[in-house]
Amino acid sequence: MKLSTRAQQISPSATLQAAAMARKLKASGRDVISLTVGEPDFFTPKNIQEKAIESIRDGSASFYTPTDGLPALKKAVQEYFHTSYHLNYELKEIMINPGAKFGLYAAFMALLNTGDEVLIPTPYWVSYSEQVKLADGVPIFVEPFDQKSCKVTPADLEKYRTDKTKVLLMNSPANPTGMIYTKEELTALADYCLAHDLFVVTDDIYSQLVYHGAEFASMVNMRPAMKENTLVITGVSKTYAMTGWRIGFAAGPVKLIHAMSEIQSHSTSNPAAVSQYAAIEALNGSQKEAEKMQETFSKRLDAAYDLVVVLPGFSLVKPQGAFYLFPDVTEAMEKLGYTDVEKFVADILEETGVALVAGTGFGSNRHLRLSYAVSQEAFAKAIGLILEFLTLKK
Ligand code: PMP
Ligand code: GLU
Repeated sequence: MKLSTRAQQISPSATLQAAAMARKLKASGRDVISLTVGEPDFFTPKNIQEKAIESIRDGSASFYTPTDGLPALKKAVQEYFHTSYHLNYELKEIMINPGAKFGLYAAFMALLNTGDEVLIPTPYWVSYSEQVKLADGVPIFVEPFDQKSCKVTPADLEKYRTDKTKVLLMNSPANPTGMIYTKEELTALADYCLAHDLFVVTDDIYSQLVYHGAEFASMVNMRPAMKENTLVITGVSKTYAMTGWRIGFAAGPVKLIHAMSEIQSHSTSNPAAVSQYAAIEALNGSQKEAEKMQETFSKRLDAAYDLVVVLPGFSLVKPQGAFYLFPDVTEAMEKLGYTDVEKFVADILEETGVALVAGTGFGSNRHLRLSYAVSQEAFAKAIGLILEFLTLKK
């Protein structure tokens, strides 16, 4: 049996792989602190759990739902876009996906022909490039001129645009950097996309995890014409500590949403019914728990940043959103004789039991990612161990 070329050209998800490795080591009895996978460490709020249990008990979760989602959830998502984005989407412009990740995948499958190019600003979340390849598209990695900001400008995009360029992928707050684009920056990019007929897919999954007065803005809002020129992908995973439930939302031009629904109908049928009932409560119910989690992340960011910024040979700009730090560790590696960040991260795990994600999967051999979606105590202990590794190794 020979695997398809498509399957063979895909790299495993670096984030999920690093998390699995940490779990395996833990299971074998090692003391491991995992700062790998990006998911809130909180339980899903009680009110959401209860609604899910109710839907199991009263039988409503027993059945298939419409492919594009339960009407009540689509209505809740419509209301969410109305209040949070000030945009009026019709219900046929909205669909529910089994996770934002699948929403992105369905979008690339619906948008791309063989050889179509997608501009992906670097560093980027690990799955974008692989999903584009799965859809027979070509990921084009856009290096920001301003490497410190990790943000691209129209001038950066212009260096990579060809007559095959079809889509710009945006993600702000970003994984892995936690950086946020300002309205001015997004407006310039929106104008560029409109001028050159580039469709925008914006992954807004971290929109509600922004800190210290930073303001989330989305490409879709920057010009009236952007509503028809943008697909917004978001979901409940990060905001409501619901990564395991697998619910994402997509909103965009009806033609695209329709095509994505067809793809979903033949691949997953519909997102799990029980999870959709839970998501209705997440959006319509009390937001108190979500706000508390956001405040906790905000405090953790401060503590985590203060610890990491002083690690010898680590350099980073303080992020404003998501729950990751993505320091440039070139200097630390050079001092210790490393040329490969994967080896650096592997040795840290081996010698300290602290699991991190190498930057390679995000498009950088000079960075590594730490998730601060763990308790402050665990994070501080992990950094203490890394500091020991850096100083003892010298
Ligand atoms: N986009 C980004 C940037 C992410 O970090 C993640 C992480 N899970 C996702 C999308 C996918 O989210 P979901 O759990 O809804 O599939
Ligand atoms: N998005 C999270 C991360 O980057 C979860 C894992 C994944 O889906 O990649 O760690």
